[in-house]
Amino acid sequence: MDLGLKGKAALVTGATSGMGLGIAKVLAEEGCNVMITGFGEAKEIERLKTEIAGKHGVKVLHDPVDLAHEDQVVQMVRNTEKAFGAVDILVNNAGIQHVALVEEFPVERWDALLAVNLTAAFHAIRTAMPGMKKRGWGRIINNASASGLAASPKKTAYTAAKFGLIGLTKSVALEVAENQITCNAICPGWVLTGMSRPQVEVIAQREGVSFEQASKILLSSQPNKRFITPEEIGRFVAYLCSEAASPITGAALSIDGGIMAG
Ligand code: NAD
Repeated sequence: MDLGLKGKAALVTGATSGMGLGIAKVLAEEGCNVMITGFGEAKEIERLKTEIAGKHGVKVLHDPVDLAHEDQVVQMVRNTEKAFGAVDILVNNAGIQHVALVEEFPVERWDALLAVNLTAAFHAIRTAMPGMKKRGWGRIINNASASGLAASPKKTAYTAAKFGLIGLTKSVALEVAENQITCNAICPGWVLTGMSRPQVEVIAQREGVSFEQASKILLSSQPNKRFITPEEIGRFVAYLCSEAASPITGAALSIDGGIMAG
């Protein structure tokens, strides 16, 4: 099915790995020019850009922004507008994690987590919004988590940021509901990425079991009992960007193998 995204300009944060990369690949396949951000080795990022652009005949650029800094986030949006003429699709995907009891939670990790997982999305949205309003079209997708809908122990900053991201999503959606601009949050379950892999490794070490067995333990609370793939996340995001999805706004949409059903 053609989603009608050919020629759209997309900005996907945290797209050098994991879900963001999956989202960038699917949007490129749908014909979008894509600005990716995220850390990584320069050579590997170059390889990714060339591979995605070559495969789908679109432009793929990388902005080395550190999302913890307001001025850099604002500049990232400006850079994308300059390169592609617009930010039609903004995917606030980048995120970090820290796991610790609240009384032991390092204050600087709390600050960093809130900055990257929540405040960066605010700065990106507020900077991209005037252009979207002017053009009368826009799609904003914020990658929250099942942790944006239900809390977990030892993840105070992550849970607070993700609940906050859903609140930001809903408020923005209401502001622009008549402007052909939608703003939604997606709430994935477990996807095997740079963020979740260490959490599997902790279980493997604690229980003295293999990575595969530890994955099964991690996935025991996810009813479909398998990792969701970055491509599945990408397809979901691309659908939300389509015209068919235009009445969907202000939603926190689960893609979690059934976690939130229980
Ligand atoms: P990942 O570690 O593979 O990707 C994170 C991306 O964010 C990377 O590209 C990284 O370079 C980038 N990033 C981190 N800090 C940054 C900073 N300060 N400035 C710029 N870029 C930065 O992990 P992932 O699992 O693909 O995470 C993507 C999103 O999905 C996150 O928001 C995460 O909270 C969310 N999520 C993950 C899972 C999961 O199971 N992995 C589940 C639900 C939600």
